[in-house]
Amino acid sequence: MKKVYGIVGHPVAKSLSPVMHNAAFKKEGIDAEYVLFDIDPDDPDNLANFCYETDLNNIAGFSVTMPYKEEMMVYMDHYDPLAKIVGSVNTVANEDSKLVGYNTDATGAIEALREKIDIKERKILILGAGGAARAIAYSLKEFGAEVYVYNRTKEKARALAMEFELEVIDFDKIPVGKFEIVINATPIGSPPNTEESLLHAEHLKGVYVVMDIITYPMKTQLLKEAEKAGAEIITGERMLLHQACGQFEIWFGKIAPIKEMELALYQELERRK
Ligand code: NAP
Repeated sequence: MKKVYGIVGHPVAKSLSPVMHNAAFKKEGIDAEYVLFDIDPDDPDNLANFCYETDLNNIAGFSVTMPYKEEMMVYMDHYDPLAKIVGSVNTVANEDSKLVGYNTDATGAIEALREKIDIKERKILILGAGGAARAIAYSLKEFGAEVYVYNRTKEKARALAMEFELEVIDFDKIPVGKFEIVINATPIGSPPNTEESLLHAEHLKGVYVVMDIITYPMKTQLLKEAEKAGAEIITGERMLLHQACGQFEIWFGKIAPIKEMELALYQELERRK
């Protein structure tokens, strides 16, 4: 019987995950399909019911996106240690009717960065202290980076900094020339505020690489500012691709066909232009 995989979130209509995973299934000859599970957050029972009915619906695994990455933890029978540490799940595997939660956002971001730069001992500023920032901050520390965090809500930045031994940066005192890598893990720059950027070229002098994890638009205002400052840029779909490869590897226990997934992703992005 054909297995079902998909993405749980709201809204998910524009998700790029189906094209990547369906391309991987095709390449590997896996009899499965990857679909959209749009779960209305207005009724709190919806997510619980979805999780309880996975076997009934032949669901072998699913990705999790906003707004459910943290809430999903409650419905897991087990978690992978990384998901537990970062407190959010973006990947669920139905393993013998037990739901096991994983987090591939962290490794996805690291892989995207490592395509351009070595991380060890780099001074890295993360903008944001939400779910994605948390996963990225933890993994960067694991890779030996010196991590700094700025967040609109200071208490959240402080709590994150205490937990993972980071340093908090005040926005009005962002030291120019200190950081080698800057990562935006806030939604600033995504619709409807595509003209906005937390940092401008003058803040980014001396930065080698700026990564924005927003996937639309591909070149955010922050990345335009980074180019003006002479930095290399990493667009958000690189993290998306690598986190999807991590999901495939969890579900199927083998290396993801990254070339096919990448091709499908860029074809879809081109089609949507
Ligand atoms: P989240 O948990 O809701 O965190 C959002 C963060 O952004 C918080 O730190 C929040 O600050 C900050 N923020 C939100 N609006 C802001 C504003 N107007 N001004 C200043 N700061 C603001 O979200 P998330 O899951 O971490 O996701 C963050 C972004 O990353 C989203 O755009 C998401 O689509 C993207 N993402 C991309 C990938 C990928 O694969 N490329 C993966 C995961 C997430 P406060 O604490 O002050 O509220």
